[in-house]
Amino acid sequence: MTNPTHATAAPAPAPGRVIVFDTTMRDGEQSPGASMSIEEKLELAKILEDMRVDVIEAGFPIASNGDFEAVRRIAGLITESTVCGLARAGVADIERCGEALRGAKRGRIHTFISTSPQHRDHILRMSPEDVVEAVHASVSHARKLIDDVEWSAQDATRTERDVLRRCVEAAIRAGARTINIPDTVGYAYPDEYAAVFRDLIENVPGADEVIFSTHCHNDLGLAVANSLAGVQAGARQVEVAVNGIGERAGNAALEEVVMALKVRGDALRFTTGVQTEHITRASRYVAAITGFPVQFNKAIVGKNAFAHEAGIHQDGMLKDASTYEIMRPEDVGQGGSNLVMGKHSGRHAFREKLRALGYDLGQNALNEAFGRFKDLADKKKSVFDDDIIALVDDALSRGEERVQVKALRVIAGTEGPQEAHLTLVVDGAEARATATGDGPVDAVFNAIGAIVPHEAVLRLFQVHAVTEGTDAQAQVSVRLEEDGRIATGQAADTDTLTAAAMAYVNALNNLFMRKQKSAPEPMIASGF
Ligand code: MN
Repeated sequence: MTNPTHATAAPAPAPGRVIVFDTTMRDGEQSPGASMSIEEKLELAKILEDMRVDVIEAGFPIASNGDFEAVRRIAGLITESTVCGLARAGVADIERCGEALRGAKRGRIHTFISTSPQHRDHILRMSPEDVVEAVHASVSHARKLIDDVEWSAQDATRTERDVLRRCVEAAIRAGARTINIPDTVGYAYPDEYAAVFRDLIENVPGADEVIFSTHCHNDLGLAVANSLAGVQAGARQVEVAVNGIGERAGNAALEEVVMALKVRGDALRFTTGVQTEHITRASRYVAAITGFPVQFNKAIVGKNAFAHEAGIHQDGMLKDASTYEIMRPEDVGQGGSNLVMGKHSGRHAFREKLRALGYDLGQNALNEAFGRFKDLADKKKSVFDDDIIALVDDALSRGEERVQVKALRVIAGTEGPQEAHLTLVVDGAEARATATGDGPVDAVFNAIGAIVPHEAVLRLFQVHAVTEGTDAQAQVSVRLEEDGRIATGQAADTDTLTAAAMAYVNALNNLFMRKQKSAPEPMIASGF
């Protein structure tokens, strides 16, 4: 037994229980453009804890001061879930990670090194023997700081089986409690992935005393299937991300792995501790803060996941839901209410509607959302569920509002140049500008730049019609980048150009917030 300086390890799982390890804030945040602010990460951590996720990977502390702070503050906030930080095999990484986790009730250091010949030869320039030695040294060092240590073999699935066995054995001997076998490049087939676990569990001394973990990428659309194959072969932890975000094609989606285990408990006799009614709320929050929309036909959380269109299906559904539904929308926090909302709907009905849609807002956020709902109901006769979702997501993605849109008038059409007359409120004072542009959106953004000069570059401008019809709200997402910092803003309005102006201003506000709180710094080469 080593002598930990802080934090205790979570108890071993009950038989039949799979540990859910969420990496939305680490691997998920590595998706290009998906950066989250510390405040957003804190809020997400609370949502994940409410959902009873077992382990929250909160970041990669040595990567940046922002990541360090996020891990440190989440470690101080979360009491039910284990809070995990990522570290490469070096002493500096591990020490920094241990420091970030100092305040954790349950902390975990997750350290990794590449094991495959491709990575050994081209990235590490180390022999298999060197790698085995580094595994032992890194895990031993982490165990000096904390009880709960996870070790990962980056690119495990392309590693020679004998080398992988030696690395896993070294990690177990050095005191790792969890052994993660990532399919880093999303290359494995389910039976191949399962075979790796069976081989390790049968042949590595001490394998029966640790938890094996899956970490699958979706490059071939197999991340969830591979995760389940891993569990079938003996893994007892799954590493997943909300909405399946992550490097390239993303990670195994939390909601899909969890619901596959729940719905098909007859086929694979394992449970998770996840309270699945929180899934929709987590999905919507992650979509709002990253600006990554969820595809309509996405399993579990897509807007069509529980929609029945074909007449024969609808007919069956009316007779009995089990005809075409393998799970109830309420099980994942969707639907359960057909209340039509309009301008006569009161605050109470509005709150009930939000609950049915998977939102649980605090009093201030509720009041603000209700005010905006009333404004919308004045402009639009029928307010649909999707209108309300758009309205609340805007509020969730909005930071401190130093800049606000007061008034906008735009001259658009075939005769250029298009022109925008804009009034903003900046730190409480009104300011006006008129600008022209190459199209009305460009004119609006130029007018914002004339009032609030900035160096940010527009990285994404996206418009969705929230519902059908010409009076539908337009939901606009804007992503800005300045000095490597990325901020996203969203807004919905029945006027597309007003929504564009508000989304741009929201992104600017989020950018200002980030600027105040962290010095710019380059992100180092990241995890698996
Ligand atoms: Mn990964």
